[in-house]
Amino acid sequence: MEQFDLIVIGGGSGGVRAARIAANHGARVALAEGYRMGGTCVIRGCVPKKLMVYASRFAQEFEEAAGFGWLVDAPRFDWATLKTRRDAEVARLEGIYRSNLLNAGVQILEGRATLLDRHTVILPNGQRFQAKHILIASGAQPARGPDIPGHELAIDSNGFFDLPTLPRRVVVQGAGYIALELACVLHLLGADVTVVVRGEQILRGFDDDLRQHLATEMAHSGLQFRFGREVQAIARVGDALQVHLDNGDTLATDCVLRALGRGPNTQGLGLEGVGITLDAQGAIPVDDFSQTTVPNIYAVGDVTNRVNLTPMAIREGHAFADTVFGSTPRRVDHTLVPTAVFTTPEVGVVGLTEEQALKSHPRLDVYRAVFRPLKATLSGHTGKMLLKLLVDRDTDRVLGFHAVGPDTGEMAQLVGVALQLQATKTALDATLAVHPTAAEELVTMRTPAVRHNL
Ligand code: FAD
Ligand code: NDP
Repeated sequence: MEQFDLIVIGGGSGGVRAARIAANHGARVALAEGYRMGGTCVIRGCVPKKLMVYASRFAQEFEEAAGFGWLVDAPRFDWATLKTRRDAEVARLEGIYRSNLLNAGVQILEGRATLLDRHTVILPNGQRFQAKHILIASGAQPARGPDIPGHELAIDSNGFFDLPTLPRRVVVQGAGYIALELACVLHLLGADVTVVVRGEQILRGFDDDLRQHLATEMAHSGLQFRFGREVQAIARVGDALQVHLDNGDTLATDCVLRALGRGPNTQGLGLEGVGITLDAQGAIPVDDFSQTTVPNIYAVGDVTNRVNLTPMAIREGHAFADTVFGSTPRRVDHTLVPTAVFTTPEVGVVGLTEEQALKSHPRLDVYRAVFRPLKATLSGHTGKMLLKLLVDRDTDRVLGFHAVGPDTGEMAQLVGVALQLQATKTALDATLAVHPTAAEELVTMRTPAVRHNL
């Protein structure tokens, strides 16, 4: 049986990084992938999603161009062209992931891997391999949600990327990252979209101001919301679908997209056999070094359900490789996570929400700017941006940044650096504005909108 220092299960963001870095540290590494190299992010997540977001935003640009004197005659969008070009780009990236692994000296094992014991992995063709260390980086998959009648008629985010044509009408269920991003894409590309939300607001866990602002902007752009509603059944009626809501309403549609969260990919891994017990959410429990309760088995990325974002999976994979093969123990900090939601308008966030900040910093100043960006003065776009900063009055430290509007994802990355450096409000105020930009509001907010506990 072939022997390795490390076998990685899963060729996604976390697994690929870990395998490459471990190999760079001199380890003999194999990586098993059961589907396509690159994982969720590259194949059916961040990358193809962002390409769809770019495609969708041209619709708005064409509309706004007229205000600047551009006469664009009825632009036409061709889904098939976009899908073909997007899929080709994904295939190109998949090839790059594969060659990067091979160039690093990693042996690629094709097929879904199962643990036979704490050191042995078996592939579907019966081949067995052994390693001193195992890293599980098997990611997550769309949650099925409750088994309502007709649930099989709905698609999830994987199905979204397979759609052969743009549906005319879409009902989206869910109000998290995926539901909202894909709802905006479909809406801007021309579909008539209704979002069914079980709660009273979108994006649970985000800052309340931001949630409110984004929901208003999305509704303003023509998306329809049904708040406080559950989907009870989906039925086929001729060529169309009918969605039955819990208040008796029915929605006629051509496509139902459910985005109800994601669940760790642990089925068929053989975890019980090696003594790993899953947590209540079905994730693999790990310590600060991503080590499971079995000392030679580690887990990183979505399968551990810590912060389910690509940069975090990459960082966890890298830290694991440095810890185990690079003689440099590294813990990953799961706080202060900059993130973007690629809705239109976009969301950019880093740090605490107002609600969270108030728990630990009751003497909190809230700075808030709501404004129409300069471009809108001629384009006629009526949407407003939100920029919000949370500042601890005692230490002057900036604790949170919450923004809705163009390029706020890019802003979150840079404000993230400032917060990492423990920026104070005084430091922001001392920073010269870049004019004319939207981000300059961040360094020119003088008066708090709210002063808690004054
Ligand atoms: P994955 O990337 O999911 O990789 C796991 C791999 O393991 C898969 O390739 C799978 O086939 C393989 N595998 C599973 N079981 C086995 C087995 N037994 N044997 C062999 N191989 C196996 N994050 C962001 O930061 N920004 C975004 O914009 C963003 N957009 C997203 C959009 C969508 C639609 C989705 C679904 C997710 C998005 N994410 C985004 C989340 C991001 O994709 C994940 O957090 C990230 O991919 C997690 O990486 P991972 O390595 O843990 O798992
Ligand atoms: P989220 O956890 O973000 O959202 C799940 C949504 O589904 C919530 O609105 C939740 O409602 C709703 N929901 C869950 N169960 C039910 C149910 N039974 N009936 C009705 N509604 C339900 O998951 P996503 O699937 O959107 O995304 C998964 C993760 O992937 C994200 O959390 C994020 O980590 C990552 N991701 C990141 C992106 C980015 O960085 N831009 C983009 C896409 C994904 P409620 O709020 O009431 O619980």
